[in-house]
Amino acid sequence: MAQLRLGRMTLHWCARCGVPLIEKVPCGLCGGPPAPVALTPPGDARPAFPFDVGMVRSIAEERFGPGAGSVLLPDGEIVLLNRIPDLDRTDEVIAGGEVLANLTWVLGKGFVLQLRMAGAGRVWEGAAGSGRTGELRSWVVADRGAVPSILDGSNLLGPGVTDCAPGIAPGDEVLVVEETGSGRALLGTGMARMSSESMAALSRGNAVKVRWVRQKDAPPTGAPATVARTWEDALRANEKALGGLVSRAADFIREGVSRLQKPVAVSYSGGKDSLATLLLVLDAGLRPKVLFVDTGLEFPETVGNARSTAALFGLELLSEEAGEAFWENLPRFGPPGRDARWCCKCCKLGPVTRLIAREFPDGVLSFIGQRRYESEARASKGPVWKNPWVPGQTGASPIQDWSSLQVWLYIFSKKVPHNPWYGRGLDRIGCYLCPATNLADLELVRRAFPGYGRWQERLRELPSPWRDYGLWRWRWLPRGVREHLAQRGIEPGEAPRYPPRLSLEAKEPAPDGGGVLAEGRFSRALDLERLAGRLRALGKTALEGDRLSVGEWAEVGRDGSVRVRGADGAQARQRVELLREAVLRSEECAGCGVCTGRCREGAARVERGRMVIDPDRCTQCGACLTGPCPVATYSPEAQEDVG
Ligand code: SF4
Ligand code: SF4
Repeated sequence: MAQLRLGRMTLHWCARCGVPLIEKVPCGLCGGPPAPVALTPPGDARPAFPFDVGMVRSIAEERFGPGAGSVLLPDGEIVLLNRIPDLDRTDEVIAGGEVLANLTWVLGKGFVLQLRMAGAGRVWEGAAGSGRTGELRSWVVADRGAVPSILDGSNLLGPGVTDCAPGIAPGDEVLVVEETGSGRALLGTGMARMSSESMAALSRGNAVKVRWVRQKDAPPTGAPATVARTWEDALRANEKALGGLVSRAADFIREGVSRLQKPVAVSYSGGKDSLATLLLVLDAGLRPKVLFVDTGLEFPETVGNARSTAALFGLELLSEEAGEAFWENLPRFGPPGRDARWCCKCCKLGPVTRLIAREFPDGVLSFIGQRRYESEARASKGPVWKNPWVPGQTGASPIQDWSSLQVWLYIFSKKVPHNPWYGRGLDRIGCYLCPATNLADLELVRRAFPGYGRWQERLRELPSPWRDYGLWRWRWLPRGVREHLAQRGIEPGEAPRYPPRLSLEAKEPAPDGGGVLAEGRFSRALDLERLAGRLRALGKTALEGDRLSVGEWAEVGRDGSVRVRGADGAQARQRVELLREAVLRSEECAGCGVCTGRCREGAARVERGRMVIDPDRCTQCGACLTGPCPVATYSPEAQEDVG
């Protein structure tokens, strides 16, 4: 995977105290110098919670033998996880200022721990130090003659294996060791390509795909800190740096408020970033309203956290609910995909629009916990923006440049309860079936959240690979996913199709009179009375019998036929598209309300599950026909920034 740089790599470590440093500044405990940590970009490491540590330990014990987990991550050591770009989920496990392992999700296998040299050193030396090397599992001894080529990057071939632990299967993670004059020493780590039996038989071919090797003349370090450290220690070590961040964020908040002169709110999602943002706004001396949208797909703990956090600070909670919108629209759209996120519009953007329009008709300055490290889209955004989909909302993020660790340290410093799902292995909390979620996290959700069963019930309708390997998260499988499946011998088969209920087939425009005429037909008969109300956004409409005319340029028949005129082909094609979208919005409206927020005349509203236009107020500006609509457009911009 290509490296993804979204911001500065701020993580450092104090080797003496064994604590992370959130900036390249001396340790606040001992004044010692900050040492860089060689983590993979974007470098947004977060604290590992006891659940995470327990998972790493148990995988280490299972793979490498009893005691491997506790020597890898002993009690009293600060551990971080750094999510790195991957097809699914991979976290670098960091302790002692070094990357000890990759915790990665392997399709069809689950979580796998790939030890890096620092971690392998801990496991090997830990076993040797306690005289338990005999209990170690998953090791392979390389012939002395093979060592130089392995150190130069080659794999270990079958004939080069002189000994190995029993029970190794292809795909298992292994330690590669060498014979020395005084015994055995760690040489590298990798993945077995053949079984113990095949290795013992000196079979030809790759025995181990070697991933990491010890540096020549530089034995792995990776020794655990000798002094037990807590997050309280980390806070003290970073007190000054954190104080500077908080003070700059508070200045940013106060400046935004004084410049915009609008009511102040915090968009609260129940996640850590929105919690930190709320705390910062309070630190800036403000009393914001707390905005919360319940998408209907929230964990109960998320809803509870929004309520309890607002109550804790005596703040007014303004909320809006999507209710059953997801489940009601599911038969129409099919499972939401990363490339088809109709759910964002129906369950988030629509309710946000309604909430802002209802509570802040004259606009609002909404502080939102967005950070550049979350995605390329967010990295390219400034700290202040106008919400393109919710007129009247100005968004501002005081933590735009903060790392995850900085956010967490700030929350720890406030001793405020956070969403319990962070303690169950998730590092991002949103809708429990969000298609942007990786399979690893969906599995964690499945195990711990009984409500996920409702979604599993619906997934049963899909063919096996689309259900079992989470392929439902795409409409069109990306090439990388297809290749990944092929490597594992998985044939996805035909993708389930969710054809639109209404479509338009139009011919190429042809010369007609002084201009051109494009003719076409919708796939079913149309409700002209309803269309007449809605198409007024395109121009003056007149309904005569079975024909509806729009301005001077379009005619729509009750049987679905359309005739569109234009000065030339380009204009006719553009008008056909405009008409197609407008008819879809009218006939298929899901009542999400997203488009109503664009109406500045108060003419557009949702009534009995459909958007309707008040003819006395409508100025035919056409604004309600632009922007995202789940039935008419797929708008990638609207997928992320709906806060
Ligand atoms: S027409 Fe408006 S209310 Fe209806 S689905 Fe589209 S965006 Fe939502
Ligand atoms: S945005 Fe409002 S005023 Fe403009 S066309 Fe739509 S309903 Fe009419």
